Amino acid sequence: MSANLLKETGPREVFCGLTSIVWLHRRMPDAFFLVVGSRTCAHLIQSAAGVMIFAEPRFGTAILSERDLAGLADAHEELDRVCCELLQRRPEIRTLFLVGSCPSEVIKLDLARAAERLNEELQGRVRVVNYSGSGIETTFTQGEDGALAALVPLLPASDERQLLLVGTLADAVEDRLIHLFGRLGISTIRSLPPRQSTELPAVGPGTTVLLTQPFLTETARLLKHRGATVLTAPFPLGAEGSRRWMEAGAAAFHLPKERVAEVLDPLEERARIALRPHREVLEGKRIFLLPESQLELPLARFLQRECGMELVEVGTPYLNRDQMAEELALLPEDTRVMEGQHVEQQLDRVREHKPDLVVCGMGLANPLEAEGIATKWSIELVFSPIHGIDQAGDLAELFSRPLRRRQLIHPGLHPINPDQPVHA
Ligand code: SF4
Repeated sequence: MSANLLKETGPREVFCGLTSIVWLHRRMPDAFFLVVGSRTCAHLIQSAAGVMIFAEPRFGTAILSERDLAGLADAHEELDRVCCELLQRRPEIRTLFLVGSCPSEVIKLDLARAAERLNEELQGRVRVVNYSGSGIETTFTQGEDGALAALVPLLPASDERQLLLVGTLADAVEDRLIHLFGRLGISTIRSLPPRQSTELPAVGPGTTVLLTQPFLTETARLLKHRGATVLTAPFPLGAEGSRRWMEAGAAAFHLPKERVAEVLDPLEERARIALRPHREVLEGKRIFLLPESQLELPLARFLQRECGMELVEVGTPYLNRDQMAEELALLPEDTRVMEGQHVEQQLDRVREHKPDLVVCGMGLANPLEAEGIATKWSIELVFSPIHGIDQAGDLAELFSRPLRRRQLIHPGLHPINPDQPVHA
C-alpha cells in the first residue's frame, strides 16, 4: 500500500447519520423513520429533505421536551404513546425504525428496549427496529450502515447460492446491474435494503456479498457472522471500478472469463467514449476532497485514473483499511489520505494549495466559491445514480460541470473592459 495515510482530529464540518433517512425512506416506502431527538434534529431532517416534507412524509421526530430531559416524565411511556398514535394514523407502515439521536443517547433512553416492548405489543403487525443516527456516533452515510446493520439479525436463514448486493442504489441502476449479472450467469440476486421492508433477503453460507457502498462496515461484519462471504473489490464507481467489482462477483461464481469479457468489453468501450469530453475539462486539474461520505476514496481513484486529475488531498471521515485495501492500492504513490478532520487546518491547506476543484459540504461550498475556489457539493453524490459502468460519463460530468460553469461565467466576473456592461 503506497498511499500516505494520515489522521487528524478537531472541529468537524459534516452531517450526522440522521441525514441518511432522506434516501432510506425513499428506498423502502412501507417503512417509517421516527427520530427520537430534539428540535435541532427535526430541523436538520426538514432542511435536508427540502420540499419532500409536504408529501406524506415517512419520517418524523418525537421531540424530547424539558420534562423528558429532566427525567420528570416517563420517556418510555411517552414514546409508546407516540408510536401507537402514529401507527393508528398510518396503518400502511410495516416497519418502524426508532432512530436514536444525540439527546436520546445522552439521557440514555433505551430505544432497543422500547423496540422490543413495542414488538411484543404489536404482535407482528408492524416490525419495530432501532439504530443510532446521532452525531456523536455517526457521520452522514454511517446512518445507512446503522439501519442496515439493524436489519441483519432479522434476515431469514438460507443456504441458497446467491449474490447479495448491499447498500442503497437508485432503482434503475439496481435493475441494470441485476440484468448484467444475469447475462454473466448469476441468476439469484437479492438486495439489502429491499424495495419493500417486509421482503428481507435471506442470508447464509451460500451468500456472496458485494457491497455497493464503501460505508457499510458494521453491516458487512454482521453479514459475515451470519455465514456470508463479503468480497473485497474496488467500488462500482467509474468504468474501471465497476468492471473490477463485477469481475470479483463473477470470479466468486466461477464464471468463464471469456463470457465476462464478452458482456463487459462493449460497455467499457462505450464508457470511455462518454468520458472523453469530461476528461478534456478535468485532465491535469488538481482536486481536494474534504471528508463527508466515505465515497471520497473510490471517487478520487476514478478521477485520477479515468479522468486524469491530480489528487491534492483525499479526506474521509472513517477509513476501513481492509474493505478499502483494493482502492488504496489503485491510488498513486504517496497520495495524501486524511482520516478525520480539523476543518480549520484543512481549509488552510486548501488555501495554500489553491486546487482547481474542492469537493465539500454545503456549509463550505459558497464561502470557498466567494474566495475564488470552484467547488462540488458532496451531498449530490449520494443522491445521484452514479454506480456502474454505464454511469461513468454522468459521474465525470458532476465534476466537469462546475469547472465548465466557471469558464462560462469568468468573462462576466472579470470583464476585459469593466466599463462595458456584462450582458451587453
Ligand atoms: S442527532 Fe445530534 S447532530 Fe444530528 S441533528 Fe440531532 S442533535 Fe444534531
